[in-house]
Amino acid sequence: MAGSVEESGTPLIARLLRGQKALVTGANSGIGKATAIALGRAGADVVVNYVVGADEAEKVVEQIRGFGVNAYAHEADVSDEDQVVDMVARIVREFGTIDIMVANAGLQRDSALVDMTLAQWQKVIDVNLTGQFLCAREAAKEFMRRGVVPEVSRSAGKIVCMSSVHQIVPWAGHVNYASSKGGVGMMMQTLAQELAPHHIRVNAVGPGAIRTPINTAAWDTPDAEAELLKLIPYRRVGDPEDIANAVVAITSDLLDYVVGTTLYVDGGMTLFPGFATGG
Ligand code: NAD
Repeated sequence: MAGSVEESGTPLIARLLRGQKALVTGANSGIGKATAIALGRAGADVVVNYVVGADEAEKVVEQIRGFGVNAYAHEADVSDEDQVVDMVARIVREFGTIDIMVANAGLQRDSALVDMTLAQWQKVIDVNLTGQFLCAREAAKEFMRRGVVPEVSRSAGKIVCMSSVHQIVPWAGHVNYASSKGGVGMMMQTLAQELAPHHIRVNAVGPGAIRTPINTAAWDTPDAEAELLKLIPYRRVGDPEDIANAVVAITSDLLDYVVGTTLYVDGGMTLFPGFATGG
């Protein structure tokens, strides 16, 4: 069984996903980049999706190949149906199949409600929610076609939806983003219920505050970081690797019985920290 702890020789981390084929969207930056690298370190072949920034995507590919696994970069806009269909068709052509889909790509277009344009609303929903729907749908088709290959994994495939604490925490001034992540949570649970009988596991990872380009303003000055830390009981801003490690764990057979769960990786941000002293 893949991920068996009884095997010896290669360290466990390098065996957890050995022989599996993974695709990570938005993998040339931040959390997606760290996740693609971590999946490669865990033994998976990895497709590094990007929409802009081919140079950075190639650097990620090189780093992953350093682990002795296959990798290539693929340009596609996750909100474009044809491009997602082509992207998944290519991994099946080049790697033979797909075992892990990490629907990570996302963005913010922040605005107070009364100033928010329909374009700002639509863009965030298109990328953060519809993009994940398209990626999940195309991966699920291949998972169902191929079924379980016991030497590779106990499940027929894994889908990880990159969500956020804003799946459950309202966020004034970001109604498009919070709505997209709330939608991701219900989409994930519905897909998990629908696909579990096919031995496909769908889960979400919900990051708290992680140091990436999406939220630089929230941590790049000492004052901003001090304000942010008030929201984090564990009193540290997260690193992309904190999320990447969670994705490796939840896609490995060690967590084979985890279905339809959101794993919050947030230093306790979802624990209503204001109630530690108030309320
Ligand atoms: P990031 O800006 O570093 O990375 C986002 C990636 O998505 C980039 O590579 C970007 O080019 C890509 N992308 C954007 N639109 C795309 C499209 N149409 N098609 C393909 N790729 C596209 O930010 P990040 O923090 O690494 O964000 C990754 C995910 O984590 C997002 O879904 C975000 O909502 C989520 N998240 C981040 C945090 C955090 O604190 N950084 C917290 C909660 C959730």
